[in-house]
Amino acid sequence: MLEPRSHGLWQHSAPEAPRTEALSGEVATDVAIIGGGFTGLSSALHLAEAGARVVVLEAAEIGFGGSGRNMGLVNAGMWIMPDRACDALGPEHGERVLDVLGRAPSLVFDLIARHGIACEAVRNGTLHLAAGRAGIRELEARCEQWSRRGAPVRMLTAAETASAVGTTRYRAALRDDRAGTIQPLAYARGLARAAAQAGARIFTRSAVTTVERVDGKWRLGAAAGGVRSDWVIAGTNAYSDGLFPALREEFVPLPYFLCATRPLGDNTRRMILPDREGAWDTGISVASFRTDAAGRLIFGSVGAFGGAAGAVHRAHARRALARLFPVLGPVEFEFEWHGQIAKTRDNLPRYHELAPQVLSFNGYNGRGIGPGTMFGKILAGRIVGPPKDLPLPPTPPDLVPFRALRAAAFEFGSALVHVV
Ligand SMILES: Cc1cc2nc3c(=O)[nH]c(=O)nc-3n(C[C@H](O)[C@H](O)[C@H](O)COP(=O)(O)OP(=O)(O)OC[C@H]3O[C@@H](n4cnc5c(N)ncnc54)[C@H](O)[C@@H]3O)c2cc1C
Repeated sequence: MLEPRSHGLWQHSAPEAPRTEALSGEVATDVAIIGGGFTGLSSALHLAEAGARVVVLEAAEIGFGGSGRNMGLVNAGMWIMPDRACDALGPEHGERVLDVLGRAPSLVFDLIARHGIACEAVRNGTLHLAAGRAGIRELEARCEQWSRRGAPVRMLTAAETASAVGTTRYRAALRDDRAGTIQPLAYARGLARAAAQAGARIFTRSAVTTVERVDGKWRLGAAAGGVRSDWVIAGTNAYSDGLFPALREEFVPLPYFLCATRPLGDNTRRMILPDREGAWDTGISVASFRTDAAGRLIFGSVGAFGGAAGAVHRAHARRALARLFPVLGPVEFEFEWHGQIAKTRDNLPRYHELAPQVLSFNGYNGRGIGPGTMFGKILAGRIVGPPKDLPLPPTPPDLVPFRALRAAAFEFGSALVHVV
């Protein structure tokens, strides 16, 4: 069982996980997948549907990492501006990754429909909200860059923003009709159920502690058994534990916390995000908010609960909600939790071929629902499909210098920003 304190509201409202066991004994398979989040489970589902034998090994429980803790915004694209992605990756890979990730929400909502995954899916778009004049300029540039690529995005006026969000604090918004929201832990559990029904074997409480070459196969060792396979996928993103040291060393863990109110009254629900879009702003510490199916308001920002900083972040969340929605009155939170985001140096994800037939996509920079699902499908295609170019070129890991210092700066800096 996941801890409610680590997965908060999502643990409370998700349907049960499919039954799984810890690995014991030796198992032979075609593909061994490390990590039971969106990347690993989407790979497993698509591989199993293509007829491959697949084993997933998850250290804790399905959705234990970012997949079971996140805000549930199914975004198209990445944090980084579209043109900057092309500058960084070159026009060919840049346009390819934008195209693929622009279509990622459709893949997520199609999988949800095809497999009947009960995860509070709402595809009503997202609203990126302008904080100040700089925010308006940023969103206008984003809107122009996506529009040039044919994406269904548009700027909302101050009046349109106020009526869509239920506050006059923002002067403009970028609406993206490709996107939506889900209950993320429920989606992860639904993907696991679909993968298992397609034939994948999923083992939980089975941390992989060794990867070695034995008789021409890979052997992944866990406490009470091992898996031999031709291929290995590492889908461990921000929860990489050092099994492949480079995967952990190439991102800085960025803490992000979420808190959820009790269900709002009917009148308030009709005022705040009445169409249930996911929303976040361009502010320095980012405020994101949305509602769930029961009408709770969920607020998130940079920082982690635990220790003295927890009280600072909680007070900040209360003040922020009071400023945005005075109609709420004094705010109490029913659930609080946090997780960590894999932030790479250039805010772009990474594709690695860590060794022959050992593949990994990671470094989603807080955008992993669409990308994890899409890259998982692409990894499956890389293994069972005809050879084709991937959206990202394989690169050697790009280690972040002074990683621990940078991580401490995020924790300390977020608390400092949230004190006032
Ligand atoms: C608070 C928060 C809010 C976010 N909000 C959003 C959002 O609104 N929209 C969005 O798109 N993204 C969001 N993200 C990012 C998103 O959650 C992640 O990018 C995504 O879940 C990554 O999926 P994954 O499968 O690659 O990795 P994870 O879900 O992190 O899964 C990795 C798994 O690997 C397992 N593991 C690690 N090492 C081993 C090992 N040695 N053996 C076996 N298993 C191992 C871990 O236990 C873990 O379960 C958010 C993240 C956080 C933390």
